[in-house]
Amino acid sequence: MPTFTFYKMKKTVLLVLSVLFLPFIGNSQCTTTNATSCTCLNTSSINCDLLPDIIVGRPPLLASGQYGNIEYSQTGNGVENGRLRISVSSPNIGRGPLEVRTTTKYVCGTDTITGTAPATCPTTGLPPKQLVVQRVYHKNGNTMSFIDRDAGTMTYHPSHGHMHVDDWGIYSLRQQTADPNPLNWPIIGNGAKLAFCLMDYGSCSTYNGHCVDANNNTLLNGNFPNYGLGGGAYNCSPTVQGISSGYTDIYYQHLDGMYISIPPGTCNGNYFIVVQLDPYNYFLEENENNNTIVVPYTLTQQSPGAVATITSSSSTAVCAGQAVTLTANSGVGNTYLWSNGATTQSINVTTAGNYVVTVSSPVCGTAVSPAKNVSFIGVTPTTTNAAICGQGSATLNASATGATINWYAASSGGAVLGTGNGFTPTVNTTTTFFAEATTGASFQDMQHLPIIPLAAEDI
Ligand SMILES: [Zn+2]
Repeated sequence: MPTFTFYKMKKTVLLVLSVLFLPFIGNSQCTTTNATSCTCLNTSSINCDLLPDIIVGRPPLLASGQYGNIEYSQTGNGVENGRLRISVSSPNIGRGPLEVRTTTKYVCGTDTITGTAPATCPTTGLPPKQLVVQRVYHKNGNTMSFIDRDAGTMTYHPSHGHMHVDDWGIYSLRQQTADPNPLNWPIIGNGAKLAFCLMDYGSCSTYNGHCVDANNNTLLNGNFPNYGLGGGAYNCSPTVQGISSGYTDIYYQHLDGMYISIPPGTCNGNYFIVVQLDPYNYFLEENENNNTIVVPYTLTQQSPGAVATITSSSSTAVCAGQAVTLTANSGVGNTYLWSNGATTQSINVTTAGNYVVTVSSPVCGTAVSPAKNVSFIGVTPTTTNAAICGQGSATLNASATGATINWYAASSGGAVLGTGNGFTPTVNTTTTFFAEATTGASFQDMQHLPIIPLAAEDI
């Protein structure tokens, strides 16, 4: 297998050859300038658009290793930790080429610039997005014409040194449900919105099995009536990119962005890789409904089994009367059963005790969490009264676990007369003081304590 870089060089040579000998590549009477022997999708017509039809090639997604998929565990692999690297092939099985051409319009943030592009946008410091068109070829008898239609953007990729078509693909790892549309299945992990340069990486015969019809029958070069239309030599040019009829473009797993991130804690088991090309339908195709592929994939380098953990909304004990929220770990398809009978992912607890949760999922199985102890601070002061003979001072006492006692003359408001468990005011008549227990700044509870001056004769 040639490396990608080498292949690009080779393709540059081929592009030159194709310009010189264009009529001799493919069917000489079906080129982008001569429609004589091009055939329409509707074979009874001689007046039609010759549209591309992009599908997703299956073989690389079923292969493992350098030219297929590589799963990395969550540790010990540096930047590859938790990545599922994938290789994606994008054959064009349509009657016409997918051809992308740059315009002289650029977008920097919200500004559109016409003319010469700045290397980087003044506002963002990033390369500008360049508006592109899709060139759609049209056959009318022997005459070939074309129209250019808006089709999204390209952006210069500094480390690759060439332009990329933006938003070309979206990759995800999902868990199957009964829903027939895999794009509705729950996502385990996502990849980046992939940008790439489009090129004729190789033909459908070279990459046997990548190009298939709607019934999954393999299509080889001879099965394409307009084979090679587009030239068979699109490369990573800054002005024209594309995929000819009967060709595929392949992005192997080692290239930038060719991976899905698997979240830590994901269990080993059976999942599905979902690859969606041209997800925003920028490009007009013969069939817009065959750009998604679903391939089974079994994770083997991730968490071996079920996990159940509880996190609390408070790291310290809270005051009686307030609630503590306990939350079980999330996971796709998880169901929950708490020791108090609740089945939600989170519960609000106002009663002290030990709580456990049982977490079950279709892939991971069932696990029971360690017990989580919830306790509350007792804030009701316990108090003792005092009595004195005649006028004088007496000591009142109050205490509350984990709280500070403040003393007041009124049940609400007023100055703090003293702080601490003991309080010794001077009184000359029966007087009630108020002890407030606080934790932090919050008012918690108050008890009133009478001091009852006693007549001497009562002693
Ligand atoms: Zn590139």
